[in-house]
Amino acid sequence: MKNNKTIPVQKNEKHTVKIEDLTHEGMGVAKIDGYPLFIEDALPGEEMEVKIHKTGKSFGYAKSMKRLTSSQNRVEIKDENFTRAGITPLQHIHYPAQLAFKKQQIKNVMKRIAKVSDVKILDTKGMTEPWGYRNKASVPVRKIGDKLMTGFFRKNSHDLIAMENFYIQDPKIDEAIVKVRDIMRTYNVKPYNEKDNTGNLRHIIVRRGYYTGEMMIVLVTRTAKLFPASKIIPDITEALPEVVSVVQNVNPTRTNTILGEEAIVMFGEDKYTDTLLGKKYEISHRSFYQVNPTQTEKLYNVVLDFAALTGEETVIDAYSGIGTITLTLADNAKHVYGIESVEQAVENARTNAKLNNVENVTFEAGLAEEVMVEWSKEGRKADLVVVDPPRKGLEEAFINAVIEMQPAKMIYVSCNPATLARDVALLADGGYIAEKIQPVDLFPQTSHVESVTLLSRTTAK
Ligand code: SAH
Repeated sequence: MKNNKTIPVQKNEKHTVKIEDLTHEGMGVAKIDGYPLFIEDALPGEEMEVKIHKTGKSFGYAKSMKRLTSSQNRVEIKDENFTRAGITPLQHIHYPAQLAFKKQQIKNVMKRIAKVSDVKILDTKGMTEPWGYRNKASVPVRKIGDKLMTGFFRKNSHDLIAMENFYIQDPKIDEAIVKVRDIMRTYNVKPYNEKDNTGNLRHIIVRRGYYTGEMMIVLVTRTAKLFPASKIIPDITEALPEVVSVVQNVNPTRTNTILGEEAIVMFGEDKYTDTLLGKKYEISHRSFYQVNPTQTEKLYNVVLDFAALTGEETVIDAYSGIGTITLTLADNAKHVYGIESVEQAVENARTNAKLNNVENVTFEAGLAEEVMVEWSKEGRKADLVVVDPPRKGLEEAFINAVIEMQPAKMIYVSCNPATLARDVALLADGGYIAEKIQPVDLFPQTSHVESVTLLSRTTAK
């Protein structure tokens, strides 16, 4: 039974509160009798009238009704729909304050989760123009009224809000989505209906090389049937001359995962190219590629700087994707070994090595945790291990294998401070001390925090 006495507020009540803090997702936090309320579009220091929206046992949600005072860090928002869709949860925060907020989050988790307070955390490297940066967009397609629409889902739902300008995406990508949408309408393509798993077109994905301008269009459909390529391809390439590849990806299942297993190349090949730090990369529709190209170059420069290679080192780059970090480090190392689980990405990586005439790299297809365990059992050695795992961080088996292998240094590129901190604690137990952390803002206006951590091996365990 719920004990309402411990909850000092009730749904629909109005209160005046002062915002004390921000959650890691960028929501304002106010307290009533010690009971935390999370409030969207609310900044520390601001006073506002709120209406209680939802109450849970240990915290609740409230909606801002009227702002009584405004923070100096508040800026005009671009679009209300963005708050509804949750695309840019920090859009109301002045950019320098966003950068400080991201640094602070790393500080918090290092103290709270990793229990280290002496690690040096540098100022977040930001963008001069923190909009229009994304080189990839995946937009859902649904029916609104009787029209095929593109846009974004309302936060925590699958209701489509029609949207044409996404502000954080390359404007050429926004333009391309609208053009492809209109072509799909011309041929009466049926938008996907999630409720009964009917209709066909689920997502339109557009990727664009920042330096090359090459564009890839991926049409994700429920069935392999779409329409004759002979009709739509000429329309697409005429409307969008930058397009070098059109891929149909078939995803018949009821799932939140965007891509399915089957792919049909409709135009060009399953690849487009871009460059990073002067090297050329081929990217397939399944391969991961960092979404913010100019900030990625800054990120990789931090990795290069922390690595301080002399040309003699053996390096392992785990979670190597299409080999971008691997090839960036190869110029200054003896040999770099990449490990990546997505087969197509490994194929891209091998081609990318050839494209750039880099010979001192080897790519291994497999799970990083399995390959590392195998390599450490075989007694293989490395001077430096670089990791760039997905949000869930490293597997313990991977960490143990690194500790066994005893590289002098480790560089941890992380997109999730919480798992970074958890792993830093495990690595500390194995003798690896976090020396410094450089946050790099890869995702302005969003609450995502990317960082590079340098860890060094100490002899004492
Ligand atoms: N370092 C690359 C890719 C980073 S993204 C870059 O900067 O572009 C993380 C990559 O890890 C993705 O390519 C993903 O396919 C891969 N991956 C995810 N889980 C993995 C695992 N268990 N083992 C190896 N690779 C994995």
